[in-house]
Amino acid sequence: MTGTPSTELAPHYDVVCVGGAMMGSAVAYFLSENPDFDGTVLVVEPDWTYDRAQTTRAQNSIREQFTNSLNIELSRFGIDFIENFHNNVQVDGESPELNFRGTGYLFLADDEEHYEQLRAESIDQLALDADVTMLRPDQLAERFPYMDVSQVAGGRLGGMREGSFDGWALFQGIRKRAIHNKVTYIHDTVTDLEVANGRVTTVRLASGTSVGADWVVNTAGCHASKIAAMVGLDLPVEPRARTSFVFDCRQPIDSIVPLTITPAGVHFRREQHHYMCGAVPDPDVAIDVEDLDARDDEFEELIWPVIARYVPQFDQVQVVTSWGGQYDYNTLDHNLVIGASNEVENFLFANGFSGHGLQQGPAVGRGVSELITHGEFRSIDLRPLGYERIASGTPILENAVI
Ligand SMILES: Cc1cc2nc3c(=O)[nH]c(=O)nc-3n(C[C@H](O)[C@H](O)[C@H](O)COP(=O)(O)OP(=O)(O)OC[C@H]3O[C@@H](n4cnc5c(N)ncnc54)[C@H](O)[C@@H]3O)c2cc1C
Repeated sequence: MTGTPSTELAPHYDVVCVGGAMMGSAVAYFLSENPDFDGTVLVVEPDWTYDRAQTTRAQNSIREQFTNSLNIELSRFGIDFIENFHNNVQVDGESPELNFRGTGYLFLADDEEHYEQLRAESIDQLALDADVTMLRPDQLAERFPYMDVSQVAGGRLGGMREGSFDGWALFQGIRKRAIHNKVTYIHDTVTDLEVANGRVTTVRLASGTSVGADWVVNTAGCHASKIAAMVGLDLPVEPRARTSFVFDCRQPIDSIVPLTITPAGVHFRREQHHYMCGAVPDPDVAIDVEDLDARDDEFEELIWPVIARYVPQFDQVQVVTSWGGQYDYNTLDHNLVIGASNEVENFLFANGFSGHGLQQGPAVGRGVSELITHGEFRSIDLRPLGYERIASGTPILENAVI
């Protein structure tokens, strides 16, 4: 673990982040790198190992293939950030190795209707300069000879800027740089937020300490609705179980295995010398936020029959390991919530990422830093992803949810 927690606190901070994993560290990093921001930042994080953070439990992939242009822009900045990581995120001339592997994402369609939907979406993606190609079964078989395409109508393949990386290293790199930039990380838990005249004034901690704050950013992942309730706001973000599996295949595949998404929502990709996969549980319901158990039955019940149908070699596999995780799932529209509400003007959201928070973290951290420093989004106008759509019940559409 890099950096040690502080034990002494100032009575007041310009910005307090509630939660110090990917989002808290991204906000802290971008604020502390912003030449126009000269304030103090406190990051409060109870879990010093980050073992329970979703940042540690992710599958670490990044893509351009969204159907909402804002999601494309958000992740595209993530891709750029990963590409330039070594130049921009250093401490004492060093930065962690992100091991990015460009493989593309492959969305499969089993029937013409779904293929047409993927194709229509690709027109919008191409208009935004995304690198996507529609493939028919013979073209799929040519590129991915291990695949049984007999029941496939086609697929949409992304370019080599999509792929996987070391998410822990990304998080640790920005956290270490934020600490280097004099951000204070404290090992504590936010237990309450005091509000007066529509502003958070005080952050109360489990240790019994309180600090004043000009801005409070909700970066508490699956705990976000509890933090929002402290200021009297309703945030429809709930924990949903997501189990990850790593497996071996008796007859390994010797060509590229992109992150492949089947119409049933089962996804798989190569993970170094193994393969990684996951699925949407049935039923997909809210769970206890402390429940991080792996749902091991899902492999045989939901995943194996599906992956073996598309990849006959996956008929003979062995699960190497599995782990439980949670999506911080926005029940209105699965998309992130960023920025303030009308009710509490200095309480900012950075929540509701489902399976996209690692790749969107850099753009969200930059966006929050711009809001705090300049009073507006400057790089990407993220206002459509604000809290007002939650308050008014107006969803933002995104078809490509994994
Ligand atoms: C199975 C799975 C696969 C995923 N795959 C991908 C992927 O391929 N690509 C991608 O981009 N994203 C992926 N994600 C999503 C990504 O992991 C998350 O969106 C991202 O890590 C969220 O970061 P966060 O900082 O908001 O939340 P977390 O990492 O959960 O951190 C929240 C932090 O808040 C702290 N906290 C909670 N309560 C309090 C409190 N009261 N006071 C102070 N601190 C508190 C917690 O201790 C925790 O450390 C995946 C997620 C899962 C579960």
